[in-house]
Amino acid sequence: MDFDAIVVGSGITGGWVAKELCERGLKTLVLERGRDVKHGADYLDFAPPWEVPNRGEVPEEEKSEHYAVQSTCYAFNSASKQWWVRDSEHPYSTPADRPYSWIRGYHLGGRSITWGRQTYRMSDFDFAANKQDGHGVDWPIRYADISPWYDRVERFAGISGASEGLEQLPDGPFLSPMAMNCLEQAFKKKVEEDHPARRVTVARCAHLTEPSPEHIKLGRGPCQLRNVCERGCGYGAYFSSLSATLPAARKTGNLTVITDAIVERLDYDHAKRRVSGVRVIDSKTRQGKSYQARVVFLCASTIGSTQILLGSRSEFFPKGLANKSDALGRYLMDHVMGLGAIGTHPGFLDRYYYGRRPAGFYLPRYVNLREKDAVDFTRGFGFQGYTWRSTWYRGIHEVGVGAELKQRLREPGRWEMHLIGFGEMLPRADNRVTLVEGRTDGWGIPLVHIDCTHGENERRIAERANLDAAAMLAAAGFENIRSNGAIMPPGHSVHEMGTARMGHDPATSVLNRYNQAHDVANLFVTDGSCMTSTGTTNPSLTYMALSARAANHAADLLGSGVI
Ligand SMILES: Cc1cc2nc3c(=O)[nH]c(=O)nc-3n(C[C@H](O)[C@H](O)[C@H](O)COP(=O)(O)OP(=O)(O)OC[C@H]3O[C@@H](n4cnc5c(N)ncnc54)[C@H](O)[C@@H]3O)c2cc1C
Ligand code: SF4
Repeated sequence: MDFDAIVVGSGITGGWVAKELCERGLKTLVLERGRDVKHGADYLDFAPPWEVPNRGEVPEEEKSEHYAVQSTCYAFNSASKQWWVRDSEHPYSTPADRPYSWIRGYHLGGRSITWGRQTYRMSDFDFAANKQDGHGVDWPIRYADISPWYDRVERFAGISGASEGLEQLPDGPFLSPMAMNCLEQAFKKKVEEDHPARRVTVARCAHLTEPSPEHIKLGRGPCQLRNVCERGCGYGAYFSSLSATLPAARKTGNLTVITDAIVERLDYDHAKRRVSGVRVIDSKTRQGKSYQARVVFLCASTIGSTQILLGSRSEFFPKGLANKSDALGRYLMDHVMGLGAIGTHPGFLDRYYYGRRPAGFYLPRYVNLREKDAVDFTRGFGFQGYTWRSTWYRGIHEVGVGAELKQRLREPGRWEMHLIGFGEMLPRADNRVTLVEGRTDGWGIPLVHIDCTHGENERRIAERANLDAAAMLAAAGFENIRSNGAIMPPGHSVHEMGTARMGHDPATSVLNRYNQAHDVANLFVTDGSCMTSTGTTNPSLTYMALSARAANHAADLLGSGVI
């Protein structure tokens, strides 16, 4: 064996698995298809506005030619462009009338550099939902199984937030919360007075407000409230693989990282029922190579890991490795996006706020909790909220020239608030990732085909979320309220999940309760593909907790000689 463990992917989940395995004393190889990135040195977070090309805009021709999908992501701009793949080099297919936005970055650290850092736990309302209403299969775990792992990852990552004592949004060992501004406080007061079941809380986010000695030892510092996080953060103030997990793994002396290494397929030894090799193509030289280890973790992101497994066909697994159930590639889900409303407030014109807080507020799910509400859908939705003064908001481009424009920019403009809904999406077998027969990318790897649509339940969730958002803004005194209309194509929330789901039964799921493949003992998958349902909260914190839990379970199994 070359290594004790191989981890495919260095993003949020791969970073966690590498850290945990290395800290358990296992010689671990991380294979990353993208280029190497130097934490700090390769970021543009210290570029002043006048050094950012085109004030952040990317030319339309460049977008349509190379970034047709990626440029639809809110965080894509000329200072963060390097963190997205070029769609022209990494194509995939969809049916013409069913677009899917596959938003991704291939480089060391993956999307841990660009993520929005919103971190919320799932609860037993989520883990029990499939069993209760019969959509999908039952999660093989409950909140009690994952709660200590949430604690572990939150302490290490550093999550700032306020404890609320809500059953649907469990609390954690938070760093001090960021302060809500005057408009958010007024909105909170009004919403909670009008609706006792609703709570408005400051965003829980992976930013260090008070670094612990453990954070400082890794070279991380407190957040400076600059809100340029999608460029990378030289202070290491937000959690990423590069600021936190990979440095911790490196400190053990057990970590090896190879970049520009595209994992093409996994070899399977039927006699031993194990993965026997990980085949890699060097992205620059196109040379092939194979690595062996006692255990293999796929953390290449939901669609990336599914692509590898589907491509690892053999006479024993003709539909893809570990796919006796035929669940692999199916049940693709993504939170429903495009819900909510935006409005302008006439008041608080004499008030401003300090700094550029890189996170807003959160209004967790309130429908269909203890009892089913009088609504025509199952499950629910939550809202993230953001406020700004209209002419001084970073993303706003005031149009004009000369003295009139300069005068206008001296005034911060009126307050605005955007409520952005995230709706649960149900698992459906037809929402599916497959490989395109006969079409390959520049490295000879079969292209992915994504066929995924929202259903009637998602549309009804969206209607209700739009109505509720507009009603809450109106009640809180907002004017000029624009409710969102049609929902966006799936993929847009960048919370893709479910294509190698966990479950009790090997006949209907790919992974067991520890993210271990039912069919292949030394294979674990811990990215979003493992998710059995979406819940309504941003999922990466749950992926982290599952990754840490699975890595420690694998280390136990290796230690006791079971695998
Ligand atoms: C703009 C934006 C905002 C977001 N905001 C939030 C948020 O607020 N909260 C939240 O919870 N989530 C958020 N997300 C989603 C979050 O980034 C993902 O859920 C998370 O990064 C998934 O972790 P991962 O390890 O599965 O994948 P990634 O972080 O994408 O890492 C996967 C890695 O695998 C590598 N890889 C892929 N295929 C191969 C291969 N064949 N061989 C070798 N390596 C491979 C990739 O290059 C990549 O480095 C956001 C994402 C974006 C883009
Ligand atoms: S706002 Fe905080 S986390 Fe974001 S780039 Fe600035 S210092 Fe880093």
